[in-house]
Formats: sequence, C-alpha cells, structure tokens
Amino acid sequence: MIRKGMKLYSILFGACPKCHQESMYTVKNPYVLSDTLKINDNCSHCGTKYRMEPSFFYGSMYVSYGVGIAFAVAAFVVSYILFESSLLTAFISIVLTLICFLPIIMRLSRNIWINFFMSYDKSLVKK
Ligand SMILES: [Zn+2]
Repeated sequence: MIRKGMKLYSILFGACPKCHQESMYTVKNPYVLSDTLKINDNCSHCGTKYRMEPSFFYGSMYVSYGVGIAFAVAAFVVSYILFESSLLTAFISIVLTLICFLPIIMRLSRNIWINFFMSYDKSLVKK
C-alpha cells in the first residue's frame, strides 16, 4: 500500500524526501538515543542537502506538538474507552506513551517538517 513516491513513505520511514532511496538518519533505529536526531548532511543518492538552512529542524518542534497530541489521544482512547480504566490510569498511560514513543515522535515530526518543503522527484531516482 505504502510505496516509494508517496509522501507517506518518506514520513514513515525517514527516507530522503526527494528520491526515497535511502534513510536520512545515520542510524535507522530511533531508540539508539544518542543518535536519534543525527541526520546525514546530504543524500548519497541524489545529493539533496537535508538542512536547507541552519537550525532548519527547529521548526519541527511545532509539528511534534501535533504528533504528540495524536499519540496522547490514541493512548487515551485505548485506555479510557477500550479498557474502561479510571481517568487517573488513563492519564498515567498517556504520560508513559509519550515517554516511550518520544524518539519516534521526534523523528516523525522531522520527517513531516522536511516533507513540507521538499517533494518526491522521479527524475532523481534514475541517476
Ligand atoms: Zn535522495
């Protein structure tokens, strides 16, 4: 369903937003906490510069707010509505979810942020 060429592919897998041929991150696993936010300077396939300007990824903090809310709502729905837990338990589950998924939330928001500014370019794939 999700294949190369769709924005969703780059957002979910952290692939280069222009050619979707390789990961932007130096380490693929987001839970290697020291390397969660380490991004290559350029795409080795198409040469796209990921940091278009200094501190480009500061803007992803706005996105991470929305992504965090989405995770919190999902945690609330699962614990409060599906498992019919108390409000306190639902609150604790939200906090735990946000802590556990923090590396994923940070990467997702960076991927969404860079995909606001760059789009898939088919001609770059063939190079
Ligand atoms: Zn690329």
